[in-house]
Amino acid sequence: MENKTEKIWMDGEFVNWDDAKIHVLTHTLHYGAGVFEGIRFYETENGPAVFRLKEHVDRLFKSAEPLTMKIPFSKEEIAEAVKETVKINKVDAGYIRPICFFGYGKMGLNPAGAPVNCSIAVWPWGSYLGDDAVKVKTSKYIRIHPKSLIADAKICGHYVNSILASVEAKEAGFDECLLLDYNGNIAEGPGENIFCVKGGEIYTPKLGTILPGITRSSIMQIAKDEGIKIGEKDLTLDDLKNADELFFTGTAAEVTAIGQLDGKKIRNGEIGPITSKLKAIFMDAVHGKNKKYEKWLSYVND
Ligand code: PMP
Repeated sequence: MENKTEKIWMDGEFVNWDDAKIHVLTHTLHYGAGVFEGIRFYETENGPAVFRLKEHVDRLFKSAEPLTMKIPFSKEEIAEAVKETVKINKVDAGYIRPICFFGYGKMGLNPAGAPVNCSIAVWPWGSYLGDDAVKVKTSKYIRIHPKSLIADAKICGHYVNSILASVEAKEAGFDECLLLDYNGNIAEGPGENIFCVKGGEIYTPKLGTILPGITRSSIMQIAKDEGIKIGEKDLTLDDLKNADELFFTGTAAEVTAIGQLDGKKIRNGEIGPITSKLKAIFMDAVHGKNKKYEKWLSYVND
């Protein structure tokens, strides 16, 4: 892998990157019942800072509940381990991937009795979808049904849905895909939430069939603080195609403008003024340049 770092935290200890290995009969490898997070850390004038660490750790533990997975560390221990992993690898900025999974020792669908293993890796990872406005394709796959799976949990196996939709979009020459929900309303991207701007107001799909994104809630807070009206509601493809601006939010994607949806240009196909404004405030916040949002940062050198 490109961008590898020195150490990976595994079950309470640091091991060399190349030694962070598991058995092929690891339960989660077969059935997908694991939980993970994607977190970013950024360079600030006080050294690297993890963005919204508490919220990510809370979501990790919440995702584990429906699987009856008992994570053998406390939230505080995982948060500390995240910071230590950033620190020991001496990277200024990048991505953090904690994962908790049912390990080796038991097969069969019921994971009860399988050990729970946890690891945390970090690596430098720049912009996920690039800096320009992206071209998006509505997928033929719908976002997972909340009565089949736990739509608001970040469970490994859910990402087969995201992968299928992403492959479809990439093969058709698009940058990213958009998934509808089982009612035909807008859900989200494969790893991003979506927002639309119309007449100076911002809308995003309500919770229910989407991952409650931590970037989504940060952007909603920033918009409110800026006095921009923002609401959650059912949105249709027509709403999106007639929007003044569209953008994705996500830890990896940060704030990414959408320039085209299914070949229809949004505005002039480039980032619009409200997206630009929110993106600039967000990027300042993650780099510790906006005191109002410093509460969202956990400095690893504290
Ligand atoms: N939706 C899905 C399906 C995702 O995987 C992600 C990435 N975690 C998001 C939305 C955005 O969430 P966040 O802002 O917390 O990264």
